Amino acid sequence: EPVLEMRDVGVELAPLGGAARRITSDVDLALHAGRTLALVGESGCGKSVTALAAMNLLAPPLRLGTGHILLRTPGAAPRDLTRLSPAELRAARGGQLGMIFQDPMTALDPAFQVGEQIAESLRAHLGLSRRAAHDRAVELLQLVGIHEPERRVRAYPFQLSGGMRQRVMIAIAVACSPAVLIADEPTTALDVTVQAQILELLRELGARLGMATLLITHDLGVVAENADTVAVMYRGRIVERASAEALFTAPAHPYTRGLLASLPPLDGPRERLRPIPGQVPPAGVADADCPFVARCPEAMPRCLAARPALTAIAPEHEAACFLHATVAA
Ligand code: SF4
Ligand code: MG
Repeated sequence: EPVLEMRDVGVELAPLGGAARRITSDVDLALHAGRTLALVGESGCGKSVTALAAMNLLAPPLRLGTGHILLRTPGAAPRDLTRLSPAELRAARGGQLGMIFQDPMTALDPAFQVGEQIAESLRAHLGLSRRAAHDRAVELLQLVGIHEPERRVRAYPFQLSGGMRQRVMIAIAVACSPAVLIADEPTTALDVTVQAQILELLRELGARLGMATLLITHDLGVVAENADTVAVMYRGRIVERASAEALFTAPAHPYTRGLLASLPPLDGPRERLRPIPGQVPPAGVADADCPFVARCPEAMPRCLAARPALTAIAPEHEAACFLHATVAA
């Protein structure tokens, strides 16, 4: 059974005094212990709000419009995060859900030594003494591959490289041995070599600590080696879902194929991701037609007349495209 399950989750943008607009819809995701699910798509497709929704961390003008978020952790009855009181939710998040963001500089407090920031989380959620939290912070820095942890524990964020700051963020995220780790573009701000090291660290920690990991990225290139399963998102909806292997060997949705075609060749020079052709998709979900129709090289007349449902096309492989699927209800 999945540790964290999002069912039919839809996020709305509800500005004060304005009409609410759906920006994601029908999102179903299941995270399993010790495994990594990658959520992939261009910026603006709804990945980050999905990550926030997974922890029930949406703040106005964003709000959960539909859906449930079920957390199943050992020794506790399954909980629906959408039904917890603010205090219960804080407790559940701190101990069970860890999160890492793109830019560690904004997430770390520049005025405090990194060791204090790790210790603070340990003291708040595990009730450790000052001394025990300090010692555990040193151990955590070691765990995330920071050399000379006894010395680095006293460093301020500005004294560390970007890669080391992200390792500190990972240490904070895993400090309470969370069941679920959500990493939103954790390596986007880092250079390529450091990116690979951080992703390897996340993979290793996920397996070692048995965490269910949600890895959010705009780069399919990071997915191949770092995810077990992949969900591809476009305009607020999941348009394809498969094992990483199936996605790379038999991509079914034209959008996924476009993302794959935009990857730089493995044997060529590393370069930035080339965008797939066509206009940047508008924000928000659409129901009347296929969300990808304006950019799709394989569009047919029926793609303008209805929206394809996410449909099984092989065991554990689904796509929402009329090349494979039927009309959505
Ligand atoms: Fe392209 Fe039509 Fe498939 Fe949409 S449903 S991705 S427009 S072929
Ligand atoms: Mg984002």
